[in-house]
Amino acid sequence: MDTFIIIWLLLIGAIMGSFLGCMGYRIPNKIKTTYPSSFCSSCKKPLKWYMNIPIISYIIQDGKCVYCKEKIGFIYFLCEILGCIMFAMNYILFKFNIEFFISTILTCVLIVTIVSDFEFYYISDRVLVLATIALIISYYFLDRSQLLMRIISAIVLFGVMYGIKIFGNIIFKRESLGDGDIKLMGVIGLSLGFLNSFVSLFFASVTGLIFSLITIKKNKEGIIPFGPFLIIGALIVIYFSNIIDPFITNLF
Ligand SMILES: [Zn+2]
Repeated sequence: MDTFIIIWLLLIGAIMGSFLGCMGYRIPNKIKTTYPSSFCSSCKKPLKWYMNIPIISYIIQDGKCVYCKEKIGFIYFLCEILGCIMFAMNYILFKFNIEFFISTILTCVLIVTIVSDFEFYYISDRVLVLATIALIISYYFLDRSQLLMRIISAIVLFGVMYGIKIFGNIIFKRESLGDGDIKLMGVIGLSLGFLNSFVSLFFASVTGLIFSLITIKKNKEGIIPFGPFLIIGALIVIYFSNIIDPFITNLF
């Protein structure tokens, strides 16, 4: 039974990864979700179904468009791989309990945001609203006792981040934190609760810093989209909760 579910989640994850990566491109470019059907972003030619099979098409076509031979962004392939692996991994770690739903919802937000924030410096409100609704429904059915505290955490985190932004803007005399990042922290507050969200900020900063050091030569503008790292930080807290939770309890 487990093997069947895992294979099913590998497939669904790859399909969702492909769909969400595509949304990460379409939403900032104001292209509708359903129309037109998939097309090459360079030559705009519509893709046949067999050019659009998650993971497999990219490998067979050697990462290039069949028509114009222009490279397909590796980021889209990464989205498919992430969806495939993480959907299945979330199940292996948590079975179908609340942590599975939280980590899978965050995985979906991560995949859209990787494309939209890295390529277009954009975090979609629509995606965050959908994630918020999905999280509230998950808590309502699986862990209702937590729901109220998590909503309060989300509001407090949003407020704290907003305060940091205003403070940062005054000190640095420029936009210090994106509005998308602040709203995203609200979603993370809803996912993790108050204390763990602050722990996730630590991991977000560390992973973001490592990434900026690795890409320092390529990234001349010095702008690092922080959204994906906020979600990666949150996922680290969920995946390593058995190590982090006792550590935090000892600390306070
Ligand atoms: Zn093309």
